[in-house]
Amino acid sequence: MLELRPTCEHCNKALPPDSLEARICSYECTFCAECVENVLLNVCPNCGSGFVPRPVRPSTNWNGDNFLGKDPGSVQVRHKPVDPQVHQRFSAAIKTIPPHQR
Ligand SMILES: [Zn+2]
Ligand SMILES: [Zn+2]
Repeated sequence: MLELRPTCEHCNKALPPDSLEARICSYECTFCAECVENVLLNVCPNCGSGFVPRPVRPSTNWNGDNFLGKDPGSVQVRHKPVDPQVHQRFSAAIKTIPPHQR
């Protein structure tokens, strides 16, 4: 199950479970859309994968208790800002390899 981490790992912006700005990588490293686009260049600094929009977990119990009321978002903040220059080199190296071969 997704943790729904509460903030952007780079800029620490709040990303509540209903945020449409949250982006996650293959390991659920979580960043805001702006940082993914402008700082991370769509490469996760932790694992090298790309990002996708994080789904919003329903706040309504539509079916079988699968909703935010039973499974709330995480409250554990991970704030590990990247060095943009270091990351630019990291992402450039990764981007020389086709996505399915990384
Ligand atoms: Zn951010
Ligand atoms: Zn990652």
